[in-house]
Amino acid sequence: MERIEPQVIKIAETGLCFEGVQQMTEFYGAREWLKRSRELQPNDSEFLIELSGRACYKSFGPGLNPNVSKVRDNPREYITNVLAKADGSILEHASVTFAFLNVSRIFTHELVRHRAGTAISQESLRYVRPREIGVWVPPDVASASKEFAEAIEEITKRYRGIEDKFDWEKMSFEQKKRVTSALRRILPDGIATNLIWTANHRTLRWVIEMRTDPAAEIEIRKVFGKVADICIKDYPLLYADFTRKELSDGTFQYVPQYSKV
Ligand SMILES: Cc1cc2nc3c(=O)[nH]c(=O)nc-3n(C[C@H](O)[C@H](O)[C@H](O)COP(=O)(O)OP(=O)(O)OC[C@H]3O[C@@H](n4cnc5c(N)ncnc54)[C@H](O)[C@@H]3O)c2cc1C
Repeated sequence: MERIEPQVIKIAETGLCFEGVQQMTEFYGAREWLKRSRELQPNDSEFLIELSGRACYKSFGPGLNPNVSKVRDNPREYITNVLAKADGSILEHASVTFAFLNVSRIFTHELVRHRAGTAISQESLRYVRPREIGVWVPPDVASASKEFAEAIEEITKRYRGIEDKFDWEKMSFEQKKRVTSALRRILPDGIATNLIWTANHRTLRWVIEMRTDPAAEIEIRKVFGKVADICIKDYPLLYADFTRKELSDGTFQYVPQYSKV
């Protein structure tokens, strides 16, 4: 059995088309605001969220909307106020893409329950015939890790036994796909898989909260602890209200002051 560790890699995020932002702010008469606020806010995702929110009330400066006599100038105050009022829809404008590598199908079953604001591309066990059965061994079974590994090795042996009954060299791609898909039925839920997962920041805040809760399963808790660390570091205003608490198993819970915006 190949022992593996779940990995989280951020591979993409929303970026501004700055020329378009200039054209848009010209249209709104907000050239001064753009100059001032871009200096205070170099982060594209957080900037886009603020820009989109301000477009709702033309709140780029006092007087642009005759009903607005005062505006929050500071990006931190602006975003904190959005979170406090639970105006979360503007957080949907920016998203992050992660590669989740060496995660189990237990993890992916749980992850796909989060439907709103996500995109998923998961490695296919119809098309991809596994060379190795990689499994992460949770600490809860550390005392029985030898027996755990033996059970996986037994499944691997049985899998190879059935696999060897087929003459793969002579099979068409379609036949290979059908047999590979049939064979996966005997593979364990813990088998390592990889997927690309994109979520907007409204969704990310919610999934971090739900899946780092002590009631969540340990693997998804570990993975979303890593997601939370990346988000807190890379989007400091959007995640400023999260606090980190260490749990007894060494994982961390991330609790926002403003839940489910
Ligand atoms: C600790 C834990 C234990 C769990 N145990 C189980 C279990 O035993 N069995 C089981 O089946 N599931 C279980 N789940 C999964 C859980 O029931 C949810 O399906 C999952 O957490 C997705 O969350 P969500 O419903 O908030 O959906 P998300 O897709 O994350 O949506 C976010 C929010 O958008 C809104 N929304 C999304 N879709 C709709 C919609 N179609 N209509 C209206 N509003 C919508 C809701 O307000 C929702 O909360 C568990 C989850 C956790 C965290």
